Amino acid sequence: KILLTHGHFDHMGAAAQIQDALSIPICMHERGREYTENPRWNLSEGCGLYIKLDDVSYLPDGSRIALERNPVFSLTMHYVPGHTTDSVFYYSAKDNVAFVGDSIFKNSFGLTHFPGGDEQTLMQSITQRILKLPQETVLLSGHTEPTTVGAERERSWYAPFLN
Ligand SMILES: [Zn+2]
Repeated sequence: KILLTHGHFDHMGAAAQIQDALSIPICMHERGREYTENPRWNLSEGCGLYIKLDDVSYLPDGSRIALERNPVFSLTMHYVPGHTTDSVFYYSAKDNVAFVGDSIFKNSFGLTHFPGGDEQTLMQSITQRILKLPQETVLLSGHTEPTTVGAERERSWYAPFLN
């Protein structure tokens, strides 16, 4: 399966080609339709690409995605709006890792001035969902080297939102 963290074109621009080549489903949050159907929202229009996806499994918050042949390996989808209205992270407690897309980076966080973005919502998502994971959880983002929940909890800009 192809798991999308959100519907920006730099995260799903080749998804349809991979889907066709491998005959596998594309999965993303149920709010993703706003992005897959709208090249202005997924930002491909600005690059003259007009990318759309039309064969997507839209899943609700909390969905568990397991390998059919080895269900011991699974990821759980967690909804974290803010960078976009459809952003999620995929989490494996067993492997201590979260694929966080563009919500949080090493020493920074996602941009919120694109369609559907909202900084207050992003701060809530980061501090109430991502930074509540175990300290040692490795965060794999879309654009920086890995970091951990423990390292990012120390950033001063999250302090007003942590409790
Ligand atoms: Zn993005």
